Amino acid sequence: MAVFSSRKWVVDSFNELNTKYQYDLTYYEARLYNNTIPLTKGFDAVCVFVNDTVDEEIIKGLKANGVKQIALRCAGFNNVDIEAAQQHGINVVRVPAYSPYAIAEHSLGLILSLNRKFHRAYTRVRDGNFALDGLLGFDLHGKTVGVIGTGKIGEIFINLVKGFGCKILAYDKFPNEKLQKAGLEYVELHDIYKQSDVISLHCPLTYETFHMINEYAIAAMKTGVMIINTSRGPLIDTEAVIDGLKKGKVGYLGLDVYEEEEELFFEDHSETVIQDDKFVRLQTFPNVLITAHQAFFTKEAVMNIAETTFENVKTFLKDGKTANDVIPKAASK
Ligand code: NAD
Repeated sequence: MAVFSSRKWVVDSFNELNTKYQYDLTYYEARLYNNTIPLTKGFDAVCVFVNDTVDEEIIKGLKANGVKQIALRCAGFNNVDIEAAQQHGINVVRVPAYSPYAIAEHSLGLILSLNRKFHRAYTRVRDGNFALDGLLGFDLHGKTVGVIGTGKIGEIFINLVKGFGCKILAYDKFPNEKLQKAGLEYVELHDIYKQSDVISLHCPLTYETFHMINEYAIAAMKTGVMIINTSRGPLIDTEAVIDGLKKGKVGYLGLDVYEEEEELFFEDHSETVIQDDKFVRLQTFPNVLITAHQAFFTKEAVMNIAETTFENVKTFLKDGKTANDVIPKAASK
């Protein structure tokens, strides 16, 4: 298996587990994209992450190189052309849940940090500045939190936020029956925008959710709203949110994902001039907090990712399919 976008944590967790599985692993720091297709020659499987590109052209290249399986070591699969993979007879597997707690807890962390300004207070105190001006927060208790997407992560997030005494409003294309029975209030998207003090995104990136947070959605929101996105960058139209921040309509923005993150995240760019002007503009706002796709990054999640990936490969070798196969919607009916 050729493991792309490898970093120390990937190599360490995979090697630790591989003492049991004994796979023949080759690690590449490079992303999988057009120029790195030749690196896949002779491998049975490629293992990729969120910012690797697996479009039709890449899939044709993988097929020509003899690759039989694409093992995603993440839950989202918006970066893979699954129709093309099926057409070319390449199995695609993913890790549907490695630790929904990690992402839900990180979302809560962003809310608390943005509100109580921990990130700013930390540098101030280190600098001997003990003034409180500019650090005023609000009680989360009693605020309305709108949750878009109530799957595995959304459900845990709701339970965490409930502990603060917040009112929860939810929207999901396919409401979660268990949560409905427990009294969760599902409303239309527009009502989420209109009534929420905090809006947290936990739905996948699809053609329907692409830029769901756009100028119209923002216009419908409360002035001073807090928007949290730990899901996928393109759910938010960055230009629209920058405009909302400049006008004061958006009061706080917490991101763990960014529309154009492929060129930035998971790399050290501290010695280079960042060319992405929208990203740089976002960094200038005092009420924006960005983490670089680290919501999943807990010890538990990393070991679960390795274990599920290895099991996916094992099951595919044995049965030709797995419970974690990603197949096109039409084929799954
Ligand atoms: P999930 O599949 O359990 O839940 C997603 C929910 O979104 C489902 O309930 C689904 O019905 C709903 N949904 C689908 N289409 C929708 C739409 N058009 N509008 C509203 N809701 C819709 O997935 P999950 O495990 O909870 O993960 C949610 C997302 O979190 C993933 O898609 C992924 O993009 C993201 N994620 C981010 C990280 C990170 O490190 N930042 C890690 C893992 C997952």
